[in-house]
Amino acid sequence: MNTPALHLADPNKLQKVLEFLQGLVLTTETQRKIRDVFESEMELGLAKNPPVASSLQMENTFLPELCDGSEEGDYLSLDLGGTNFRVIWLRIKSGAVISEEVQYYQVPEDVRLGPGVKLFDFLAECIHNFMDGRQLKGQNLPLGFTFSFPMTQRGLDVGILVSWTKSFNCSGVVGEDAVKMLNDAIHRRGDTDVDVIAVLNDTTGTLVQGAFVDRKCAIGLILGTGSNACYIERADRIEKWEGKDKDVEEVVIDVEWGAFGDNGVLDFIKTEYDKEVDRNSLLVGSFTFEKHFGGKYLGEIVRCVLVRLTKEGLLFQGNASEHLLRHGAFTTRYVSLIEEDNVNGVDVNTTTALKELELSFNQEDIDIVKYICWLVSDRAAILVSICTASLLERMNRPETTVAIDGSLFKHHPRLKSFMEKYIAAMAPANKFKLMLAEDGSGKGAGLIAAIASRLKKLQSK
Ligand code: BGC
Ligand code: MG
Repeated sequence: MNTPALHLADPNKLQKVLEFLQGLVLTTETQRKIRDVFESEMELGLAKNPPVASSLQMENTFLPELCDGSEEGDYLSLDLGGTNFRVIWLRIKSGAVISEEVQYYQVPEDVRLGPGVKLFDFLAECIHNFMDGRQLKGQNLPLGFTFSFPMTQRGLDVGILVSWTKSFNCSGVVGEDAVKMLNDAIHRRGDTDVDVIAVLNDTTGTLVQGAFVDRKCAIGLILGTGSNACYIERADRIEKWEGKDKDVEEVVIDVEWGAFGDNGVLDFIKTEYDKEVDRNSLLVGSFTFEKHFGGKYLGEIVRCVLVRLTKEGLLFQGNASEHLLRHGAFTTRYVSLIEEDNVNGVDVNTTTALKELELSFNQEDIDIVKYICWLVSDRAAILVSICTASLLERMNRPETTVAIDGSLFKHHPRLKSFMEKYIAAMAPANKFKLMLAEDGSGKGAGLIAAIASRLKKLQSK
C-alpha cells in the first residue's frame, strides 16, 4: 500500500539499509498477533480474577452519562499532562460551550520532576492568576480537572495516580488522590474559591466533547505526547466492577493502552531502536506501547535509527554531528515536516532539518531520511489502527465516530489518512469516521464538570 520505494545507486548499500530497517516493518502476520494479544489483554483487564495480570488497566471512568443538553453555567477546567498546561473558563448554555477563554502556562522542569506538593501549589497559583486577571475572584466556580495519567477512579471526583508517564515524575503523588491534592493546594492559598468536582482522563474529555458534536462518537483517542483511548463498554462485560449498578448499561472505559506490553506481551515487536528509546526515557521499563509512536518518542526513534545507520557508514558518510548524537535532538516536529516533503515530493524541509542538525549530506542521505520518517510514521499508524479497529469491532456499532485530539495527530500531515486506510482494512464491517476534536480534553473537562453539577443538583433535590 503506497510504499515509497527507496532507490540507491549501490544495490549492496540498499540491501544493508533495508536490513537495519527490517524490524520496523510490521508484517500482516505480526499485525494479527498484536491484535490477538491486545484483545486478550483487554479481556484480562476487565476480568475479576485474571489468571495473569493484564498490562491494560481498563479503568472505569465513572462517567455516568454524556451531555443531555441541559447543562448550564460557568466552569473552569485544567488540562495537565501533555505539551501544554492550560486553564480554561467555559460558559455553557443548553449543553453547549458558548464561550471559552484559555491561558497556557509553562510547567518548569523542576516542578515536573520535583515534590508533588509543589506541583499542585503551582497549579493552584495558575488558577489564581487566571481568575485574578479576569475579575472572576469571589465567584465560586466548579472545576473539571483533566489529569492525563493513569488513575484508579473511585468516583467522578476521586483519581488515584497509578504511575507518572511522559515528562512528569513528581514524588509523593503515586497512590494519592489528585483531586484531594489539588483541593488541598487551593485551600492552602485560601484566596481562590474553586471546587474541583470532577477528574478525568484526556481521552474521556475528548469523547464527551466529540459526542457533543456528533452523537455517533463512541471512542475518544489521544495521539499527542502520549497515546491512549477510551470507549463505551457494556456494563455486563465489566466483570471486575464491584458494586455495579443494575440500571447502568454502559460505561466509558479508559483503556490506558500506553502501557500495553509492559508485562512483556509485546516483546516480539521491539526493535533495538525501541529498546534504546526506552533506556533513554524518563521512566524506563514502562509505557512500552506509547514509546513506539507517542509524540514524545517518535522523533527519538528516528534519531536512534539515523545514528545506527551512520555508525554503519550507511548515512552521512559515517559522520554523525554532535547534534545528532544528543537525545531528543531529532524532534517529532521534524518527522512531521519531513513527511510533508514525502507528501509533496520535495526535499525542502528535510534539507532544513539536516542543516539544523549540522550534518553534511547528499541526495541519497535525504532519500534515506525521508524513507525512515515514512516507515516510522507508517508503523505508528498501523499500531494505533490495530487497537482502534479492535475497539470498533468490540463495540460493533453500525457507525462510529472516533474523536481524536493531540499534537501528533494535529501536526502530522498524513497519520489521519494512513489510519483511515488501515482501520478500514482491519475492521471492514464497521463504518467509522475519524474526527479531530480540537481541544477536546480541555472543553470536555468543562462539560463533565457541568454534567457533574447537574447530577449533584438532582441528587440534592
Ligand atoms: C497516559 C494516559 C493519557 C495519554 C495521552 C498517557 O501517557 O497514561 O492517561 O490518556 O498519555 O495523554
Ligand atoms: Mg492534551
